[in-house]
Amino acid sequence: MRIVIKIGTSTLAHATGRLNIQRMERLCKVLSDLKNAGHEIILVSSGAIGMGVGKLNLPGRPADMPGKQAAAAVGQCELMYFYDKLFTEYNHIVAQLLLTGEDIRSEQRSRNVRNTLSRLLELGALPVINENDAVATDEIGVENTIGENDSLSAIVAAAIGADLLILLSDIDGLYDSDPRQNPDAHLIETVPVIDAHILSLAGDKGSALATGGMVTKLHAAQIATAAGCEMVIANGEKPEVLYDIVDGKRAGTRFLIPHS
Ligand code: GLU
Repeated sequence: MRIVIKIGTSTLAHATGRLNIQRMERLCKVLSDLKNAGHEIILVSSGAIGMGVGKLNLPGRPADMPGKQAAAAVGQCELMYFYDKLFTEYNHIVAQLLLTGEDIRSEQRSRNVRNTLSRLLELGALPVINENDAVATDEIGVENTIGENDSLSAIVAAAIGADLLILLSDIDGLYDSDPRQNPDAHLIETVPVIDAHILSLAGDKGSALATGGMVTKLHAAQIATAAGCEMVIANGEKPEVLYDIVDGKRAGTRFLIPHS
């Protein structure tokens, strides 16, 4: 299978912004193993800004744009240094792709991205993608920005004809009501169709349920499933969950491809 896996900052870093070494080691081990089993893996990794904050010992996430850009420039290096080091241990080669909104929206540039990704997969490399946060900002123009990696990973999955998109986050999946307010909330295991009811479960921006970024995750599910790619939202706390997801076993919330 061709699988795109998106990892959120909360999965990769501690609250301090410093790398969660144990988590990252387990993740790279599982991904290497899935690659050894014959799957094609593409990673969409967040964490550049968060890791930059940690490495530069900043008191918190910078509020100003140049501060965020500088943190991303530092953190992206740190991120790739660790991916390279850990995947090399398992004999896999990583490749970095930093994209902006233009690379997605311009037909020619998105074709270039697709060609590069296809060739990297042919060569057996493991592409690691992030938004180019050091240049892609609202200051340069909203058009230039993708903004978050849930959508970016779905756009990538659709563009390269992936079979499966997995969003690893700090939430277990989509619930039928807010699990932080309702102890009886149930995890929805399968979503056959993303209808108005499902969309309403993401809650409004700012509600407790939306803090996990469920709005952007459902948006990603719409893009992916419309392109014929199943999507799973799962908790990245235990990266071994990826084995079950790839085997089609129950884990998190799985969004199916709608029947036409
Ligand atoms: N590109 C951002 C970063 O690496 C993260 C965006 C997101 O998490 O959606 O810090």
